[in-house]
Amino acid sequence: MSQPDCVFCKIVSGHIPSAKVYEDENVLAFLDIGPIAKGHLLVIPKQHFATVDSCDSKVLADVAMVLPRIAKAVKEAMNVKDYNILCNNGKLAGQVVEHLHFHIIPRTLGDAIRWNWPVSKYPMNEIENLAKKIGEKVVVSSP
Ligand code: AMP
Repeated sequence: MSQPDCVFCKIVSGHIPSAKVYEDENVLAFLDIGPIAKGHLLVIPKQHFATVDSCDSKVLADVAMVLPRIAKAVKEAMNVKDYNILCNNGKLAGQVVEHLHFHIIPRTLGDAIRWNWPVSKYPMNEIENLAKKIGEKVVVSSP
């Protein structure tokens, strides 16, 4: 449930301090120590899971239940209308802390945040084939 060498598990247990914004039995939200915008915060499950696909779906649902309320609070407190919710999964995706977390990043007009988003196009038929290939891998969840 908790990893001894995980910085976010240490925040959950109180061994490392954090600027907490919200806490309940399963979820914690705190300000990012290296913000890319004022009010940039992280929402995490208290239990240790590294990524979305390895996370227990009930735990993820607990986080999802909280996200809209935290996002709304960020909007109101930071006086912004727009924000990004970002979740890096794995090193190649930019994940540094291997404890699942959702960044909430307030956005303001003219801010310096830019995503490198290299848009491309699929060749003929590839989009259908790819949708089929991925679709076949989706495990149908039991009720
Ligand atoms: P990621 O690249 O998605 O793994 O992002 C990890 C984030 O955790 C970074 O934005 C860090 O600034 C942030 N971070 C790392 N250690 C702490 C800490 N002790 N308290 C708050 N935020 C932290």
